[in-house]
Amino acid sequence: MGDIFICHSRRDHELVVFMNEVCANAGIRAREFEFNFAALGRTTNEEIITIMEECSALFLLLGKNVSCNLHTSNWISAEVGLATGMGIPVWVVEDWFASIDFPVPFVDHYIRINVGDPAHRDPEHHSYMQEVVRAYGSHPARRGDIVIPGTNYLQCNTGGCQAVFAVHQPFEHIEKCPVCTVSQHWDSPPLPPISR
Ligand SMILES: [Zn+2]
Repeated sequence: MGDIFICHSRRDHELVVFMNEVCANAGIRAREFEFNFAALGRTTNEEIITIMEECSALFLLLGKNVSCNLHTSNWISAEVGLATGMGIPVWVVEDWFASIDFPVPFVDHYIRINVGDPAHRDPEHHSYMQEVVRAYGSHPARRGDIVIPGTNYLQCNTGGCQAVFAVHQPFEHIEKCPVCTVSQHWDSPPLPPISR
């Protein structure tokens, strides 16, 4: 069984609770790296890699607090870079109601989740993510991406970006590219899956 690596700002409480509930309900262990800020300069890649080696996917929880603190945003970027280098798929799970200008250099999957407003909370988001996490948890190889039925792929229209990423909701719900953060609309048919 593969674990799930989660990176986030501790202040994005609702997203953190959502993802921990998803993992608990799926029976999959959620992992994260606990930074010791008293020994920040002595933190090594190996410490983080040791945990990531037991994980099948990284989920970056993109809430409004990820860019409030330079320590948080820089360490998030480092974790995403390490995961990508290890062949671990990177998911960006964004708070639906937060407008977040936080470019993520490597994105395999992008989904916007309604966690902030209980009146409009979508239980389908919870059950969908539960299935996704469960699929990664039972991924026998623990490396490389899994095939999620119904996944579509978008390519960023911005000239200097052109990032390709999987989306898990209708195109009209995707308002920007998570890599360059440029707002855009997609009206082209989905791209076929890419191998990495
Ligand atoms: Zn882009």
